[in-house]
Amino acid sequence: MNFLTFRRYEFWMFLPFSLRKWVFHQQSSPKYCNICGSNPRLWLNRGRKHEIIEKLKITGAGFRAADCPICGSSDRDRLVFHYIQHQIQQWKSDWAMKDGAHGVIRILHIAPEKGLQHAIHKLLKTQFSGREIKYILADKFTKGYYYRKRGMAFLDLDKPFALVERESIGHSADNGNYASPEKKFHLILANHVLEHVEDLAFSINQLQSQLAVNAQILVTLPIAENLKSSIEIKNLYPNFNALPAHEQHQLSAKHLGQWDHKRLLGQDFQNYFPHWQTYSQTNPSLQLNPKEKVLIFSNKNIR
Ligand SMILES: [Zn+2]
Repeated sequence: MNFLTFRRYEFWMFLPFSLRKWVFHQQSSPKYCNICGSNPRLWLNRGRKHEIIEKLKITGAGFRAADCPICGSSDRDRLVFHYIQHQIQQWKSDWAMKDGAHGVIRILHIAPEKGLQHAIHKLLKTQFSGREIKYILADKFTKGYYYRKRGMAFLDLDKPFALVERESIGHSADNGNYASPEKKFHLILANHVLEHVEDLAFSINQLQSQLAVNAQILVTLPIAENLKSSIEIKNLYPNFNALPAHEQHQLSAKHLGQWDHKRLLGQDFQNYFPHWQTYSQTNPSLQLNPKEKVLIFSNKNIR
């Protein structure tokens, strides 16, 4: 264990929240975490040093001091939540109950970040008091990752949309059919998910097909500043999927910066997201990366 180990959230996460707050919160600190509402005295390290990450300047992947020591939120989590706070009044009118409309507000959070999830759920409960909020967590359960299995639905974005729900937060399970209009979602979140799927256009379509009226999808993913055209590993190596797993992992790491990525988006990223908008912010107290983008799809004006 070297000194840097102490500078990572993983080292501290086993302490209770209250103890982390006692150690790291400092009222006079100019640093602020909008996820847990604390003033951290420092940010902990996250990300990795990797040749390709540095060479191509991959936003959201490199080594930097950006994790809240108290709740573990990343700079990306704080940016997404910043957008949600900025948007919430609009949603109050967009999601107002119309005559005969179903009153439940439905959120789908794919590969959920714990702190972000709690912050969003809390904000919605405050802003939509009296409305039922169904906040569904889903993931693909890929080998090699750690999952909190309780309360998570299974969702494979490489296949036609099918959510296999095990237990949703605070509400009884309802397995199966999500095709009926009242089961669609007002908000879908997928941070650093779509670089893992086989066919990005297909997965985006699946998500867009699950939106309720006046709904939004928020996506973040690695985008390389020094890369003009996006790289699809399948295009670099047409026989990629036939290769042994360890060779696939090596090639992905070499070209894309991570062993299980299928693509690296470049400055032409909007070709994949033609009707989407982007949201970026400069905010030194939240330690946001001004280069980081939240990609936003809104079906409000699309009928
Ligand atoms: Zn925090």
